[in-house]
Amino acid sequence: MIKFENVTKKYPTGNTALEDVSFAIEPGEFVFLVGPSGSGKTTLFRLLIRDMVPSTGSVMIGDWDLVKLSRKKIPHLRKRVGVVFQDLKLLRDRTIFENVLFPLEVADMEDNAARRRVDEILAQVGISEHSDKFPVQLSGGELQRAAIARALAFSPEILLADEPTGNLDNATSWEIVKLLQDINAAGTTIIMATHNADIVNSLMKRVLVLEKGVLTRDDKREKKG
Ligand code: ADP
Ligand code: MG
Repeated sequence: MIKFENVTKKYPTGNTALEDVSFAIEPGEFVFLVGPSGSGKTTLFRLLIRDMVPSTGSVMIGDWDLVKLSRKKIPHLRKRVGVVFQDLKLLRDRTIFENVLFPLEVADMEDNAARRRVDEILAQVGISEHSDKFPVQLSGGELQRAAIARALAFSPEILLADEPTGNLDNATSWEIVKLLQDINAAGTTIIMATHNADIVNSLMKRVLVLEKGVLTRDDKREKKG
């Protein structure tokens, strides 16, 4: 379970990005995080991967208190929580295969097992045929899939997707959302930050709305199936 309790985040510049935010997300949920640009969505994600700590309040994942988490547990946290960054952060000078392999190499996974894992995830997200291409050779939707693949490297229990359809046309956006739904159906908790009202309104999932850092709405309207 993810639990935010009275979380406030002020940046050193004085901006209050989140203000007294509280919510809980159960394992296996699919949640949309909605709000205009600057409302605090990315900040919320950064707190969940312990990229930073809140100014006040607590962030829990299961029984891990992320404020108190020791530095040596951060790599383990990042295996439990996969993230697809808004700007993807794919390495331009590595192939798609090498990009997905990278976190496994850093974690010292045995080479053959790591390569098998990469093949498996690329197939899962549907871009096996682009394995040996460089990011510049892929379309926006394919790049998004590559970033999702990398985020899935360690079979995380939670996947954060930061505006994954932000730069995509409508049809491609829906394909990405369907992929995220498949990942969710296999048991992964998903939080998707988005502006796409069409997708949010069609899917009838739970919606958290942020406005200027304040959680103004939390609909629990998920339908089973
Ligand atoms: P969103 O992802 O919803 O667009 P962000 O979490 O990026 O929102 O930003 C929330 C607020 O925090 C905004 O006012 C933004 O300008 C500010 N902010 C974000 N990152 C930083 C930072 N590194 N330093 C200072 N202010 C920041
Ligand atoms: Mg953002």
